[in-house]
Amino acid sequence: IQTIVLKDRPEGKPTVSDFEFLTDESDITIKKGEILLETVYVSVDPYLRGRMSDAKSYIPSFELNKPVHSGVIAKVLESENEKFKGGEFVSGMLDWKTKQVSNGEGLLKVDENKAPLSAYLGILGMTGLTAYLGLTQIGKPKAGETLVVSGAAGAVGSVVGQIGKLLGLTVIGIAGTDEKIEMLKTKFGFDAGINYNTSKDIKAAIAKAAPNGVDIYFDNVGGSISDAVLFNINKFARLIICGAISLYNSIELPQSVSVQPFLIKNSALMQGFIVSNYADKFPEAMKELSTWLAEDKLAYTETVVNGFENIPTAFIDLFEGKNKGKMIVKI
Ligand code: NDP
Repeated sequence: IQTIVLKDRPEGKPTVSDFEFLTDESDITIKKGEILLETVYVSVDPYLRGRMSDAKSYIPSFELNKPVHSGVIAKVLESENEKFKGGEFVSGMLDWKTKQVSNGEGLLKVDENKAPLSAYLGILGMTGLTAYLGLTQIGKPKAGETLVVSGAAGAVGSVVGQIGKLLGLTVIGIAGTDEKIEMLKTKFGFDAGINYNTSKDIKAAIAKAAPNGVDIYFDNVGGSISDAVLFNINKFARLIICGAISLYNSIELPQSVSVQPFLIKNSALMQGFIVSNYADKFPEAMKELSTWLAEDKLAYTETVVNGFENIPTAFIDLFEGKNKGKMIVKI
């Protein structure tokens, strides 16, 4: 059995040496009430960076020299728990281990006949819920409005934009390469895209792409990209602060424009979003997402990295924009 533990708290951008691989050759026997799981897919997510630091946040920090954990799809190899049978698949927050024992608490069964297993880490998992609930609960979209999404070609962003289109919005995505911008328009139906790495003036590019101004901003990145959006917001705009990946590795936070004048002038709402605060709405969100998926109204893309040993690299690559859609490791 292989395990990945957090060896050092990253300073700035994480490196592979912040993690340590441990191997244990001993046999596992399970007790009554337990199940033996084999890891099939591991989700790597930007928010894990926050848990690697010891700063106070909305979820506890990872402990040093203990396994890292994240969303995992696993196969039940053996079961002494009446709720699970050998051969079934489950999803849950599990350790970065090739095999592990669980008492089944917090695990959901997933059905590979309904959707590919990896989709339960993305569009039918936290990613889809974040996109749907952030946009609908804080964004409160009305048909005809204009939505700007940052981190648009990533897991959450690509779903946000498509839901925006299904709800009748004009959708503009901001992402880091021309290839990603092309994908936003051709695969996901965005109306326009802005490459923040080549655009000389993002503020002007947004003004051009959104001639009627921005009513809803779904923010996945923070920093200077989000500053540029502020200059273009409309009266009663809603700004959903879902993520700030451009700042997660910052040792010192950069100078930003002050948001207050923009919010006052426009009677705008800016609200932080954490998906777990909306757990009571998960069933309705899941129903809507699975219906759209079954009707082929939502598309998704994944970047699948192979091999347990590549989990840390896949995680670090999120900060280099190496993924399109959901970044997943196949074991
Ligand atoms: P993504 O699939 O979007 O992966 C990260 C992407 O961020 C990269 O592909 C890259 O795309 C972009 N990126 C990386 N560094 C920068 C940078 N310095 N400036 C601008 N863009 C950058 O991840 P997720 O969809 O899983 O997550 C998106 C955001 O949503 C994250 O900030 C995450 O923390 C947040 N989140 C929040 C949740 C909540 O409950 N609040 C739940 C889930 C996610 P590019 O090539 O375009 O730069």
